[in-house]
Amino acid sequence: MPDNDIVYFDNAATTRIDPEILKTYNEVCQSYFANTSSIHALGTRSFALLEKARKQIVDVLSLIEHEAIFTSGATEANNLVIKGVALTFSNRGKHMIVSEVEHPSVLEAVKQLEEHFGFDITYLPINKEGKVDIDELQKAIRKDTILVSVMAVNNEIGSINDIEEIGRLLKQYPKIYFHVDATQAIGKIDISYKDADFITYSGHKIHSVKNSGALIKRKNIDLLPINSGGGQEKDFRSGTVDLASATSLAKATRIAISNQKANFAQIAQISQQILAYLKENPSLYHINSSEENPYIINFSTLTKKASVVVEALSNRNIMVSSTSACHSRKEVGSYVVYALTKEEKLSSNTVRISLSNENTLEDASKLINALDEIIKEVKNK
Ligand code: PMP
Repeated sequence: MPDNDIVYFDNAATTRIDPEILKTYNEVCQSYFANTSSIHALGTRSFALLEKARKQIVDVLSLIEHEAIFTSGATEANNLVIKGVALTFSNRGKHMIVSEVEHPSVLEAVKQLEEHFGFDITYLPINKEGKVDIDELQKAIRKDTILVSVMAVNNEIGSINDIEEIGRLLKQYPKIYFHVDATQAIGKIDISYKDADFITYSGHKIHSVKNSGALIKRKNIDLLPINSGGGQEKDFRSGTVDLASATSLAKATRIAISNQKANFAQIAQISQQILAYLKENPSLYHINSSEENPYIINFSTLTKKASVVVEALSNRNIMVSSTSACHSRKEVGSYVVYALTKEEKLSSNTVRISLSNENTLEDASKLINALDEIIKEVKNK
């Protein structure tokens, strides 16, 4: 069982499931267990619930021209978009543009296209604020560009891209599809995705079950699927539908959006307290994140190894990350902080504190006290 004394500051990696969502998940597993493709009464009722969840997601995000395709998470959804666009539109061109700090589920997918299928990929640099520069993006556009993929919020440094402005720019290029990985943004940061063709996210970042996610796509765009089969999820993601995960995702999205403003205000307060401490100690910490997104604080340790600090915090029951969870077991530096700072030393010693509405000011005080003790006492290994 989880320890209630744990101070959990790794919410960008994943969140604790909301008990209300777990309740829904269990109820659906028990009462709507039929295959949503079966035509008997229970199958029909299950299908109706699936369609309701699908509609709730686009309604709550005000995306009336879009539809949700349920997936196992953002990794799958990102792969479906990138490889789907490649399979479907390579006759138009084989050029894609991504930012250089996208999540590995985007970067590795385009790398595969580049290395094995003759695609040409432009990796856009980020500016000093960790964002894609619109002029750089415009300059990178070519006649054979078929996809631009830019994340809404970076998972390591929390920088927020101007998705609405990029959307406006790309509207002038109707043959280029626009994908936004909104995994760290939906339910947290107020962004309109109406000009994006594809939006992807994962439920477990907003207190849903693991293995719940969606690709929200403009209704009139049909992509070739990666998995062929029975044609579930509008022919786009074959395989028996996980209805309990889909309904959990819809509920988590609704709750997150309706509490977004209040959560943001609460988290901003906690985040300010942590940032104030970091700023008081510029000889110990270099802050990599900006204050516009209170959900993610990223800093480099200047006097100790970040991995030592993270471990020492963990020994005190305080959970934070060093780089992102996807990378931290590989012991490599942060490619995101390197892209931002161009400094090896800063990028190999990063700590990420990521917050959720479950955090309190008391958590922040515990973190600050522990960090201060560790940074001043622990010897480098
Ligand atoms: N994109 C971003 C921005 C993320 O933060 C993550 C999760 N770290 C993913 C994609 C992948 O999500 P999942 O692991 O749930 O598939």
